[in-house]
Amino acid sequence: MKYISTRADKTERGFSEILLEGLAPDGGLYLPSHYPRVDAQTLQRWRGLSYAELAFEVLSLYIDDIPAGDLRDIVSRTYTEQVFGSREITPLKPLDGGIRLQALSNGPTLAFKDMAMQLLGNLFEYELKRRGDQLNILGATSGDTGSAAEYAMRGKQGVRVFMLSPHGRMSPFQQAQMFSLQDENIHNLAVEGVFDDCQDIVKAVSNDLEFKRRYKIGTVNSINWARLVAQVVYYFAGYFQATRCNDEPVSFAVPSGNFGNICAGHVARMMGLPIRRLVLATNENDVLDEFFRTGTYRVRKSAETYETSSPSMDISKASNFERFVFDLLGRDGDRTRSLFKQEVELHGSFQLAPHEFAKVAEYGFVSGRSTHADRLATIRDTWERHGVMIDTHTADGLKVAREHRDASEPMLVLETALPVKFAATIREALGRDPERPAALEGIEALPKRFTVVPPDAQAVKDYVARHC
Ligand SMILES: *Cc1c(COP(=O)(O)O)cnc(C)c1O
Repeated sequence: MKYISTRADKTERGFSEILLEGLAPDGGLYLPSHYPRVDAQTLQRWRGLSYAELAFEVLSLYIDDIPAGDLRDIVSRTYTEQVFGSREITPLKPLDGGIRLQALSNGPTLAFKDMAMQLLGNLFEYELKRRGDQLNILGATSGDTGSAAEYAMRGKQGVRVFMLSPHGRMSPFQQAQMFSLQDENIHNLAVEGVFDDCQDIVKAVSNDLEFKRRYKIGTVNSINWARLVAQVVYYFAGYFQATRCNDEPVSFAVPSGNFGNICAGHVARMMGLPIRRLVLATNENDVLDEFFRTGTYRVRKSAETYETSSPSMDISKASNFERFVFDLLGRDGDRTRSLFKQEVELHGSFQLAPHEFAKVAEYGFVSGRSTHADRLATIRDTWERHGVMIDTHTADGLKVAREHRDASEPMLVLETALPVKFAATIREALGRDPERPAALEGIEALPKRFTVVPPDAQAVKDYVARHC
């Protein structure tokens, strides 16, 4: 399998070449040169597999430059009952009328990012060892992504993580999750500033190409193809659990921000998994809902980006969205480049031609949005009627799923986090504290390991240089 850019650069690269990369050199995103089709016979064979075996089969179609035995070993070390809490890895929970939650949030940081990040940790370690190389991951986080990256990379050979977070601004639980890690290769830098300051520092350091090269600085952001392909697996796993045979269509509802999760659903559908609809749910930050309703993609300014109670979906632009648009436009890289490089960068938006937008339905996408009041109502309703406590992001997904539900077929709502991460909103909705997994009782009291730094790129560079 070879990988190409969404912006017309036709250079073909192997999986291992793009594994440690972010954007393609022309500024586009990497996609496989084609989607392998999974025929009925193969689907039938996959139905009986364990999650790790299924992951091996799916990943093998996209990774041909890691020997099969090694890939099998990486995958089976990643998707274990011990790490993800159940034999199914992503078990289903029935609600009502064909609606089921698919639990993606039972990994170490209690959010779905673990599903891909845990694999990435093992793939990075493998590839760096093979190259005899090292990588220093520099990132900024306001919560979920940073902790998923740290738990994936802790103790890994050849990898260090330098994670910037706004000092004193994360919830005590999130802080405890990250700062209690005692691994020597994990560095928590608490920046005296806000999240934007952290992001600006990461940009400034990454723009210093000499420093970046010398200290082998890399990232693990959501545009990484390996993260996306890891997420394709659970669409198959959910499908097999929800159906008895392979001609039953299923729909998925996905709480969305950067379009990474649902883009994996799009890839699964392109491979031939019988997904009828991909239901995209946003919160008040409705860039994507607007696009799927109107064909206009309008990036928001920071003043128009709201802080909501489903914060992992608070985005102003959706960094993976270009991948879908490339497919929608019949893989026309010139047109994709002109939309994202000219129109978005110059005017902050683009509008598809009517004949282009008309194709969206063929790809199964529909959308909706959910507000704070909707989240409270959905969390309360699910608790009262089913005794199931859901988090705020999953509530956005469930609210929009109900609007698009077709009683004749299963609808899987992807559960993207556990409620304990968003305790304040749970208390507001239910008047009680969220349930907490036993392993995380009292983590706020554990010793913390972090360094406070001023909001200054040079201070961060100095820290990195001293610790490499
Ligand atoms: C990251 C995240 C999302 C959004 O996923 P995307 O891949 O960015 O669309 C939704 N819910 C939770 C809990 C998340 O951490």
